[in-house]
Amino acid sequence: MAFDAVIAGGGIIGCCAAQALCDIGCRVMIVEARENLLTATSAAGFGSLTPFSDPFFDGDIAEFANQSVRLYRNNIVPEFARHSRLDFVDEGLLQLFASMDDLEESRSAAKGCAGALRGPNPLSRMEVLALEPALRGDFAGALLYDEPWIDLEQLLQSVKDRLARNPKCTIKLKTRVDSVDTDASAVCLDTGERVAAGEIVLATGLGETAVLGFPRPEMEWIRGEGLRVRLPADSPHLLRHVYHGKGFVTPRMDGTCLLGSTYVLEEPRSIGETDRAKESIRATTEADVTEACAAFLPQVRRSEVLRRWSGWRPRSRDHFPILGRLVEGEGPILALGFLGLGVTMAPRVGQVVAEMVATGTTAAIPSRMLAARFNQIDTRPPGSGVKPV
Ligand SMILES: Cc1cc2nc3c(=O)[nH]c(=O)nc-3n(C[C@H](O)[C@H](O)[C@H](O)COP(=O)(O)OP(=O)(O)OC[C@H]3O[C@@H](n4cnc5c(N)ncnc54)[C@H](O)[C@@H]3O)c2cc1C
Repeated sequence: MAFDAVIAGGGIIGCCAAQALCDIGCRVMIVEARENLLTATSAAGFGSLTPFSDPFFDGDIAEFANQSVRLYRNNIVPEFARHSRLDFVDEGLLQLFASMDDLEESRSAAKGCAGALRGPNPLSRMEVLALEPALRGDFAGALLYDEPWIDLEQLLQSVKDRLARNPKCTIKLKTRVDSVDTDASAVCLDTGERVAAGEIVLATGLGETAVLGFPRPEMEWIRGEGLRVRLPADSPHLLRHVYHGKGFVTPRMDGTCLLGSTYVLEEPRSIGETDRAKESIRATTEADVTEACAAFLPQVRRSEVLRRWSGWRPRSRDHFPILGRLVEGEGPILALGFLGLGVTMAPRVGQVVAEMVATGTTAAIPSRMLAARFNQIDTRPPGSGVKPV
């Protein structure tokens, strides 16, 4: 076999899995449907590394994400910064609250924060303004989490460059994995080629081109929107990423800010419906994102918009990522459904995929994330060993 592993999907999850596999000596092929790696949901991310403040992930899943943040801090940032610029700011995240009662409620509900170095620490409005004088609007206080941000565009470029330089990694672009022949441990490509490999990893996200039959019917569709803006010259620069209600702002070292907001859609029953929902959201994107963020940073109404983008954050019905095999020791490794934390979790996911390939162990995967929880769903077309992708 020419490859030890073939990875369907060249997003941040597939690329980190490829890197981790190359690091243990595997020969890897990444098959990516788009013109380039890291251009789907991963390009929509903000680079906020938020293991503890994410509303869906707590306990061992938050700790799994925190292990990934440690990999960024201790391994990836120092290593990548030797070759190119990679801004990583450990300055924390501020979650603003309209009332101190809301703050206390959220603080006592904040689970899984035992591993955080500080926080979430409650701050009064005065304390918040001392940290971030740019903030305005109607908030009584904030929780400060010890969560960093990374410049995502710089990170994606470094990830891509590193894989392109790696002789163990073959990258096949503009090519779809059409199906997986589990029995023969091979993928069938839309070019008609068949690629056999010791392991198959499905890192196809959970968007429009994800695995058919599984776990697509189990999805909720969430859309995230982003704007990169330059704040007016008279506005103090933000250091921390800040969120309040539906809006969030992540600063960049170059003085720009990323503004974002999240929309939960009615469940689309077909891809056509998904597309229509997408169109209707695009029409309101800029105004909605701006208004959501202007509630605590009114200067954004006077800011210059440099870039607009959006992406799906589809999640499994139980909200948890899907990692590992459906059946122990059989079939492809799934690494899907990372919701709003895929960038945060990717390095640790890559490590775990490499551990699975090297030793077969899934011990490091929190049980709520194990793909095997879906193993009662038979995704095979009747009478065949071929799984549609
Ligand atoms: C607006 C927004 C902001 C976000 N901010 C953050 C953040 O600050 N921090 C954070 O941690 N996360 C954030 N996220 C979430 C994060 O971006 C995702 O969780 C992550 O990018 C998922 O990566 P992925 O590799 O699973 O998916 P993707 O990036 O979608 O990659 C999947 C790839 O698979 C390819 N593919 C699919 N099917 C096939 C096939 N059959 N054959 C070949 N290729 C295929 C696709 O073309 C795609 O390139 C954000 C998301 C959005 C939308």
